[in-house]
Amino acid sequence: VAPGLPVLRARALRVAYDGFTALDGVDLDLPRGRITAVVGPNGAGKSTLFHCLAGTVRPVSGRVVLGERDITRLPAHARTRLGVARTFQQLAVFPTLTVAENVHVGAEQGRVVDPGAVERALRLLGLDGAVRTLPAADLPTGTLRRVELARALAGSPRVLLLDEPAAGLDTGEVTALARVLRALAADGTTLLVVEHDLDLVADLADTVHVMTAGRVVASGPVGHVLEGLDVYTEHTEFDGLD
Ligand code: ADP
Ligand code: MG
Repeated sequence: VAPGLPVLRARALRVAYDGFTALDGVDLDLPRGRITAVVGPNGAGKSTLFHCLAGTVRPVSGRVVLGERDITRLPAHARTRLGVARTFQQLAVFPTLTVAENVHVGAEQGRVVDPGAVERALRLLGLDGAVRTLPAADLPTGTLRRVELARALAGSPRVLLLDEPAAGLDTGEVTALARVLRALAADGTTLLVVEHDLDLVADLADTVHVMTAGRVVASGPVGHVLEGLDVYTEHTEFDGLD
């Protein structure tokens, strides 16, 4: 897929939990080598959309298409094999394995097993020093987030889905994260960021989609959309983003 053309597409996604409509016909394109952000208030359906793309929630209707392939019915692990990697909002590293071992697990679950990719991921996330031999259990949140991102990258993904990647990070760590994510996009990786930190979104994303009540209500270049959001916030009960 050429840069800028959609790698992953969602079409008319509908999700219902016990009759409650969490996604009400969502379309989304993730263009190759671009950073796409999804923002919106608590309960808007952001995580549900994320799970539909990752394969952990099955829509009642609609499609998820990777390149030319319909992956709507594929489970999460099969999508990872095809190059759709993700991180977890709740950290999900193996506590008894070392940093390097955790990252190796990612390589085995990924699109191709490439030992070079493990080393590159460790280096990119600043985990190639002494820390690589430490058990993940003892590490601070900021380091664990880097381990998790390295693990996702170790499988050489085409698409990287990030759920609240800045959660629990300090300002310096967020700046470093933004630098890494920009480098990945420049290298051709396609990124989706679901994030409540609007400063990070403004700094990072090419395109932003605003969700409310299971629908995408605004989309466009990040500057335009986040400007519009201020106006929107003033005139509604929209009391911030989760
Ligand atoms: P967001 O990530 O934007 O906060 P979610 O996708 O988590 O929104 O949730 C969208 C709506 O679906 C919310 O009203 C939430 O309470 C509901 N919901 C999410 N997951 C479940 C579930 N497993 N069972 C029932 N309702 C759910
Ligand atoms: Mg959520």
